[in-house]
Amino acid sequence: MSVIQKETEVSLVGMDIPALERALAEIGEPRFRARQIFNWIYARKVHSFGDMRNLPKTLRRRLESEAVIHTLTKISHSGSDADLTRKYLFQLSTGEMIESVRIKEKTRITVCLSTQVGCAANCAFCATGRMGFRRNLTAGEILDQFLLLQAESEGRITNVVFMGMGEPFLNYRNVMQAAEILNHPDGISLGARKITVSTVGIIPKIQKFADERRRFKLAISLNSPAQEKRRQIMPVAKSHPLPELLSAARYYYQKTRNHPTFEYVLLEGINDSGNDARRLIRLIGNLPCKVNVIPYNEIGNGFKRPSDDRIERFVRTLYDAPFTVTVRWSRGVDIDAGCGQLAVPLNEDTP
Ligand code: SF4
Repeated sequence: MSVIQKETEVSLVGMDIPALERALAEIGEPRFRARQIFNWIYARKVHSFGDMRNLPKTLRRRLESEAVIHTLTKISHSGSDADLTRKYLFQLSTGEMIESVRIKEKTRITVCLSTQVGCAANCAFCATGRMGFRRNLTAGEILDQFLLLQAESEGRITNVVFMGMGEPFLNYRNVMQAAEILNHPDGISLGARKITVSTVGIIPKIQKFADERRRFKLAISLNSPAQEKRRQIMPVAKSHPLPELLSAARYYYQKTRNHPTFEYVLLEGINDSGNDARRLIRLIGNLPCKVNVIPYNEIGNGFKRPSDDRIERFVRTLYDAPFTVTVRWSRGVDIDAGCGQLAVPLNEDTP
């Protein structure tokens, strides 16, 4: 199946209202049409220009020949847990593949979106890291995952996490643009605190996120309280060391008064001892935050999930800490849709 987009076609998903206004001005259309189109795409979620009934017929026809709404094509999905969790494979207009996950819980529908094709961070325990890095996704390609997953869902998507393939802060501008459009009151209008950006700890971007006073939630993958061990499983720790990372998290709290979340993927024999838990408490100190413990999802790379007993002991030690502790029993593990399990083959023939 070929979904290669014609080079002359303009993709409208991913443009904010000022960008739409500029694009429409170029073809002699008034500014107010931008808000109408924005509303049709994001609030009314139409999939064709023909359905944008308050646009003149001539403009609809022109958009049909010169622009596209969606640039992604759904290739397949796999379900698990009676379809409570589904993993989707999408093809980009440039031919590469990405994955996204939709997780249904009682009152929530969360989608986990990819931000890059592959990932340069190369965390040792992660399937995406093994793919290497291909390219950043555009804001439109990030948002299109949301729109296509929404079209597949009976209820409204309530939460977005940027935790799929890629490191969001290494694609900062496009991820922020996608998040702002998700949050825009004239469109999807998803609350800022329902949108989580997860990073391995790119320090200058955490500071920028704080300085710009972004209202979205911030999650930082910590995974070890010891610099050397962290560096072994997360090469990015070499240039973004733990003491500076914790200072950046404190800076974020001081600037925004929002509590960061620290993600802690629990790996047997690597970071799951009582000593690790006590060091973690000392490292975080009195920083107001949440620690989210994620028992590892095995992908056949030598890393193991600790036994339930060990997990419980680790978590019980953390209960002495001043911060909140939660355990995320990752959903979708049986279809490789859990944390750190997303990966697609990178076909060298793709353009
Ligand atoms: S865990 Fe995240 S940042 Fe690390 S390699 Fe995987 S996708 Fe990249």
